[in-house]
Amino acid sequence: MSTTSFSLKGKTAIVTGGNGGIGFGMACGLADAGANIVVAARDATKSKAAVADLGRRGIRAIAVATDVTDAASVKALVAATSKEFGRIDILINNAGTNIRKPVHELALDEWHKVIETNLTSAFLCSQAVYPEMKKAGGGKIINIGSMLSIFGTGFAPAYGASKGGIVQLTKSIAAAWAGDNIQANAVLPGWIDTELTRGAREQVPQLHDNVLHRTPAKRWGTIDDMAGVAVFLASPASDFVTGTAIPVDGGFSALG
Ligand code: NDP
Repeated sequence: MSTTSFSLKGKTAIVTGGNGGIGFGMACGLADAGANIVVAARDATKSKAAVADLGRRGIRAIAVATDVTDAASVKALVAATSKEFGRIDILINNAGTNIRKPVHELALDEWHKVIETNLTSAFLCSQAVYPEMKKAGGGKIINIGSMLSIFGTGFAPAYGASKGGIVQLTKSIAAAWAGDNIQANAVLPGWIDTELTRGAREQVPQLHDNVLHRTPAKRWGTIDDMAGVAVFLASPASDFVTGTAIPVDGGFSALG
């Protein structure tokens, strides 16, 4: 008899950057599967709107103002989540940023900003939730990579380094915590229509058409496209899946 289950009823999920874009799309998926959601981001207005939307899905959602680059802020996030829900089962390390410049133009502080927001944050948040997941008897960590976890480009050196690093960090976490029944996987989105990529399209006028041309599915992804993989990787259905990096990209990476 199969015990496959996609239900997240009674689980608690922290989603960094859950107030918009891919994080919000994934949070909606988890909420529809029954999880309570903690939106961890900086912009209080955006977080309030996201929490209101998530709450209409029949679960409890709260916002905790968090800067994922700041260890004290991350610690406070974990404490606030435990206080509110008594457990942490799922962490999505999704908060991210990009500064589009070639390597010879990128300043050191810009390098640090991107690496800290995209990569160090995942280390800090994963480390901070570990005792809570152990206490809960297991957990699920989902780290958001990128096509630049696989491919190179001339205009995003820190972003590419951070997203390559996310895949290796995911493997380290998976190997270290498998004995605690914690699974860690990365998701590598293709080109998804969000604020981040709207900025990129403004900077690079031909980007929109290039993506349509290069993506076998012949469309941009939507934030709804990101929900299913999040539910799978957060649920018991993926209990033997760990250390992987799953593209959700309309076939973009299949072309090489
Ligand atoms: P958005 O710009 O829409 O969202 C980024 C989110 O990160 C926001 O919610 C923002 O919230 C949060 N964030 C940024 N910095 C911090 C911080 N220091 N502390 C807490 N939260 C922070 O981008 P996307 O939804 O497009 O991107 C989400 C993730 O997906 C990123 O990791 C990105 O690299 C990745 N990705 C996106 C792709 C795409 O095509 N869109 C493709 C591949 C990967 P706030 O400002 O309120 O703090």
